Amino acid sequence: MTVRELKPTRVWEIFDEITKVPRPSGRLEKIQKWLVDFAQKHNLEYKVDEVGNVAMFRPAAPGFENAKAVVLQGHMDMVAEKAATSNHDFDNDPIETIVDGEWVRANNTTLGADDGMGLAIALAAITDPDIKCGAMEALATVDEETGLTGASNIEADMLRGDYLLNLDSEDDGVITVGCAGGLVSIFKFDYKEEAAPGDLVYFQVNFSKFHGGHSGTDINKGFASATKLIARLLATLPIDYKLARIDSGNLHNAIAFTAEAVVGIKPEYKEKFAVAFNTFVADVRNEYHVTEKNFEMECKSVDAPATVIGDCTARRVIAAAFAAPHGVASMSMEIEGLVETSTNLASIKMRNGQIVIEAFSRSAVESRKMELVKQIESVMRLAGANEVLQEGGYQGWEPRMDSKLLQLAVDSWEKLYGVKPVVEAIHAGLECGLFLQAAPHMEMISFGPTLQDVHSPQERCHIPAVQKGWDFTVELLREIAAMK
Ligand SMILES: [Zn+2]
Repeated sequence: MTVRELKPTRVWEIFDEITKVPRPSGRLEKIQKWLVDFAQKHNLEYKVDEVGNVAMFRPAAPGFENAKAVVLQGHMDMVAEKAATSNHDFDNDPIETIVDGEWVRANNTTLGADDGMGLAIALAAITDPDIKCGAMEALATVDEETGLTGASNIEADMLRGDYLLNLDSEDDGVITVGCAGGLVSIFKFDYKEEAAPGDLVYFQVNFSKFHGGHSGTDINKGFASATKLIARLLATLPIDYKLARIDSGNLHNAIAFTAEAVVGIKPEYKEKFAVAFNTFVADVRNEYHVTEKNFEMECKSVDAPATVIGDCTARRVIAAAFAAPHGVASMSMEIEGLVETSTNLASIKMRNGQIVIEAFSRSAVESRKMELVKQIESVMRLAGANEVLQEGGYQGWEPRMDSKLLQLAVDSWEKLYGVKPVVEAIHAGLECGLFLQAAPHMEMISFGPTLQDVHSPQERCHIPAVQKGWDFTVELLREIAAMK
């Protein structure tokens, strides 16, 4: 059996065509051309913007000129991952789809149902003459997977709708109504290198194998930050020491799972240092006994380094990293259990004569995000940071439980399937937040058929969920059209 024989036929046929067009993130010329050809073939007005997003427009059906206009949106790029045994060429080869029981998967590569299936639903809807509704747009954005480029750069004339249906969610029966915005803060402290005192003994402290995790969706799960731990150890040592090296964390959007530092102490403090270190390890083991099972914290004697960091900077950096907030700052009052605002004290690095601290703050509420960002900045300025940079900021999408679109969506789902859908928001970025920057008054929801193991060669798409997602889309479009 091939995917073209699956139901709903139009959706799977279009999906099949999309999977034949190479579209790894960053190399989208072929899919852009295919989308333009699609619009021309179906006599749809279309527009390609400067970053390469492609929008197609269909006018309102007669009698529906006053109905709300709807944008159906998905991203055109896909994650290009393959098994070690695969010689698939993502720039030239079509994705090989395999119908496997209730699932469609690829042959040892990502399937690209994320978000090819979303796109297929949008294109099937905009070309379906049986759906009588107001103006409709199908919008395909570029490079969602590598930094939300398309959504970040979108302009208002590419979003001609009152409502937007984002088709990039992965759980049947779940409607997403909010996401977090984010902003990276970078603090740089100049330091002087001093010759390492010869009368000290040196120890290297190593933290490894902490759980880590996504700095948004995992921030409330109780995992330790190795960056916070190393700062805490150094800030609370009961003895005087010289700091020769510090290095913790890595990516700003990952909870730090490794850290290390080299310290020099007077030989007579060796015993005291060992006791303090062991006590610290025991404390951490106790505090995190539920969430952190595999971590290692070691301390070993090392040769004297050539230089150490000047005391003044070392003390200030350690104090700042220890005092800076990390973790959940506030929970949503709209959705139970949802983190609203958080920050991840991501890393401390030594680079080109500077110590660089990075933090990543998120919130669904823009003003809350900025409050936290400014709070961290205050700590760093108090500690005498020489440079403060804030970059890569993007807006969140605040859940609105009173949204008319949401109400119609919940009703439509319940009418079709007899149960209420789960309504949730995520503490991570989605394209929707960025669309709000260009079209602040648009109401949006995000949904999509069940996909599993996306971004991996095991990616698969649940066939019955595609039928449900399609029927829901059609029903919702009709409900919106019928709304007074
Ligand atoms: Zn996606």
